[in-house]
Amino acid sequence: MSTAFYSPPECRSHDMGPGHPECPQRLDAILDHLRATGLDVALDYRDALPATREQLQRAHDARYVAEVSAVFEEARREGRSRALDPDTMACPATGKAAYIAAGAAVTATDAVLAGEAQNAFCAVRPPGHHATRSETMGFCFFNNVAVAARHALDAHGLQRVAIVDFDVHHGNGTEDILANDERVLMVGIFQHPLYPGNGADPLGDNMVNVPVPPYTEGREVREMVEALWMPRLHEFKPQMVFVSAGFDAHREDQLAQLGLVEADYEWITRRVKDVADAHAKGRIVSCLEGGYALSALARSVAAHLRVLAGV
Ligand SMILES: [Zn+2]
Repeated sequence: MSTAFYSPPECRSHDMGPGHPECPQRLDAILDHLRATGLDVALDYRDALPATREQLQRAHDARYVAEVSAVFEEARREGRSRALDPDTMACPATGKAAYIAAGAAVTATDAVLAGEAQNAFCAVRPPGHHATRSETMGFCFFNNVAVAARHALDAHGLQRVAIVDFDVHHGNGTEDILANDERVLMVGIFQHPLYPGNGADPLGDNMVNVPVPPYTEGREVREMVEALWMPRLHEFKPQMVFVSAGFDAHREDQLAQLGLVEADYEWITRRVKDVADAHAKGRIVSCLEGGYALSALARSVAAHLRVLAGV
């Protein structure tokens, strides 16, 4: 079975202004590299639907969804950008991008659970894992992975899903939404101290947070993943695995100081796939989060996708 690939064109139009690291060129770099390497032919390019309010409200407060949506609508109508927090700006096209980024994660979940694809990758932006139940944060509006995880649980009736977050920043939004939801196990590894600053003290027993100091290398990250993630994941026996796939722990990325390379992303993806193969019929939905060094981002996504697609 195939690897479904989602990258809705609307995600390209979200633009927070010149010099912002979370830029449209991130997707260009990924899509170009997939074509240049021929990896695109191994993927099943599919269309996504925008998320519905009902789907978003499984992870976010209804009032928050309404307020953010109103800001999107104002930005669109007025033709200018509106800041929601110091890092996170809505431009006129952001509403469509945010709704379809979350919707791609939901569409991918439906496709994988229907058996139309073995697994899926969503090359989407805005990213999601800093968005809490009721706040935008760190370039994120809607928590794409949390929305998809709750969709798998609440709409499809799964009983256990795992979330793997290897972005260099702690997925505080996902933790805020899913801490103490016993149907979810979240494992994360992130640089600490670093934005957003929290994560060292987990908010629930279902959170396996692994903070690592600046300048940690891939070998040490692999040891910690093996020792701290794997036993918990295998014990939990997830029926589906979601990935917050941020690639900003790459050694070329300037937003942090970890030392991962493409081979480390390949290794982590293989370990995640082992868990999915053992317990979840191979079902994985992975969504892009961070990754700001364009060439390193594209090469790392390709390494991740080669494992997912088995090529
Ligand atoms: Zn990040």
